[in-house]
Amino acid sequence: MIDLNTTELISQIAGQTGKTPEEIKSLIDAKVQKFSGLLTEQGAIYMVQKELGLKQETMEQIAINDLKEGMKGIEIKGEITAVFPVKEFDKNGKKGKLRSFILNDSTGEVRVTLWNEQVDQFPVTRGNEIIITNIFVKLYNDTKQVTLGFNGKIEIKNKKEIMPTKLAELKSAMSSVGVLGRIMRKFPCKDFESGERKGKLCSFQLADESAIIRATAWNEKADEIEKYNEGDVIEIENAYTKEGRFGVELHLGYSADIKETTKSVPSQIELLKDQTELKKITDTNEGENAVIEGKIISIEKGNLFYTVCSKCGKKITSTTEGYLCDNCGETTPKKNPVLSIILKDDSASIKVSFFGKNVLKAIGIEENILEEKINLIGAEKVIEELNENIFEKKLKIFGYTKINSFSGNKEFIARELIE
Ligand SMILES: [Zn+2]
Repeated sequence: MIDLNTTELISQIAGQTGKTPEEIKSLIDAKVQKFSGLLTEQGAIYMVQKELGLKQETMEQIAINDLKEGMKGIEIKGEITAVFPVKEFDKNGKKGKLRSFILNDSTGEVRVTLWNEQVDQFPVTRGNEIIITNIFVKLYNDTKQVTLGFNGKIEIKNKKEIMPTKLAELKSAMSSVGVLGRIMRKFPCKDFESGERKGKLCSFQLADESAIIRATAWNEKADEIEKYNEGDVIEIENAYTKEGRFGVELHLGYSADIKETTKSVPSQIELLKDQTELKKITDTNEGENAVIEGKIISIEKGNLFYTVCSKCGKKITSTTEGYLCDNCGETTPKKNPVLSIILKDDSASIKVSFFGKNVLKAIGIEENILEEKINLIGAEKVIEELNENIFEKKLKIFGYTKINSFSGNKEFIARELIE
């Protein structure tokens, strides 16, 4: 209690325990001596109160806006609106760590910092409603900051789960943003120099079911993002947004927190398909995802199967030693269906290539039946049959456009057939 001085506290404790004030005083002095000056008198009194089994009276609760430098032994409560990542430091050869968070009540907000073992003792999450007892208020860079005093405690009163912000709802100049999404594309990281400082940035595309956005991770966060793969689902806390070349962009600065998560986000294909527009064949651009719709006007000649790595599905090379995969090294082969068709809409026609299950879906034949047919009459005859059977069949295809390096023509690679 801030308004009780030492003498008043001692007589209060004496009254509560039936001991004399002198006895209490000597208990307190013994504590102070034992901790050879590291313990304040207030801290010693608190320990004595605890040892005597006195229930700690509820501390005076102060509104965040009323906190003043030098206040101690009080409590505050509020909701955690941002949690910053753990920072490790080395001070005079001693390693330590700290974690800060922002506590908000109806009157204002304040930064709270946990030091060393407190970091693990009090795991805090954005959205937690907490009471912090026995705090200290200090000034740090002219800003009030709260730390836990001796025996300070954080009690979680209510765990409100904060839903990540939908990517489509991000607006320019937001701070303490939390999002959940799948990494769709990673762009090559870059080193940069700005004045004296050198830095690094990694940009990537992040998607949820609402949108695909551009994100950039800076410096140590760039190193963290580099470890993730396209397709990984991540949760990001404490990012900020800025208007950029690609609309509202997400930035991961020094206070951003990146976590891998098992929370569900639709698959890469689902996400892309949902956010890709239907285009006329003439309007498709190299490297761009699109959905196209048209009729089959012919089937291209080919073997209908090619050999891939049985582990990862990538192309493999046959050597005298066996099969080699760029990804997996020595491996075993697997046959994978392949098919190219010419698709036409009212704007143009384009060569479309299908692989794997999409081939079978496009022609409406099961894999073992297709294999049997090829064994029986050969691939050339099967293609002739297909040319008759599926001529003018309508297909709606999600995929991307590329330029054939031999012919220079636009081609379409199917990623999925849309029913
Ligand atoms: Zn492989």
